[in-house]
Amino acid sequence: MPELPEVEALAAFLDERLSGHAVVAATPVAIQALKTYDPPLSALVGAEVAGVRRHGKFLDFSVGDVHLVIHLARAGWIRWREELPVEPPRPGKGPLALRVRMGDPGGGFDVTEAGTKKGLAVYVVRDPAEVPGIARLGIDPLSEDFTVEELGRLLEGERRQIKGVLRDQSVLAGIGNAYSDEILHAAKMSPFKLAAKLTPTEVEELHRDTIATLTDAVERSRGLPMKDLKSEKKSGLRVHGRTGEKCPVCGDTVREVSFADSSLQYCPTCQTGGKPLADRRMSRLLK
Ligand SMILES: [Zn+2]
Repeated sequence: MPELPEVEALAAFLDERLSGHAVVAATPVAIQALKTYDPPLSALVGAEVAGVRRHGKFLDFSVGDVHLVIHLARAGWIRWREELPVEPPRPGKGPLALRVRMGDPGGGFDVTEAGTKKGLAVYVVRDPAEVPGIARLGIDPLSEDFTVEELGRLLEGERRQIKGVLRDQSVLAGIGNAYSDEILHAAKMSPFKLAAKLTPTEVEELHRDTIATLTDAVERSRGLPMKDLKSEKKSGLRVHGRTGEKCPVCGDTVREVSFADSSLQYCPTCQTGGKPLADRRMSRLLK
């Protein structure tokens, strides 16, 4: 799933390509992805793109008087194409969900979604805050407002485990399963630690490592072609998605805890005092 760094890079790339150019056509292909009907998708046609920016994991295209907002969910992606086929796309079983054709000098982009679990969401609104997921967003961890004091305030009295809190979009905007694993590994903190139990020093370290991890990922993605962003993300991850591999910091084996529809990865030596965390699926397999 694209998270803050990838969406930031996509927004920067698209902002450069699209700003000052008019939309010539917007063709919905997977109709269920379109979550709004007023204003219609056709409100984009003929209007000029003023800019593309990010809110959490949402992309926000400012086009004339309206905003095209896209949430890529688990398997969504955007593909810039210098040349689009002349034939209009047909609804079908393929991954194409939306095609936007740009005016002079041409080109455009395809919004796609792989797999059968459809979560991609496209909105056309007058104000981005009309999108419920954007209205609910918490603080952006790369904004100036994200201070140690602010993080301390957010975690105060928080009864949940730190992993869940980091991923909660209404607390911190833009961090998902992958970067929460990476941040906790950098901070040498167990994903199951109760947020309210963090000491002031731990809050400080978590704050520093949150910013450092995300900034580093943004820097590595900056200026890369859109097609290379996914592999860049993967190569930069130290523990996420690396079950069974060696921790690059200490050499211990990266372990995982699996849940119904996701899993987390961590290094026991770096994060849990060498003790593996309980994992029901793993213990079932080992019996
Ligand atoms: Zn380690």
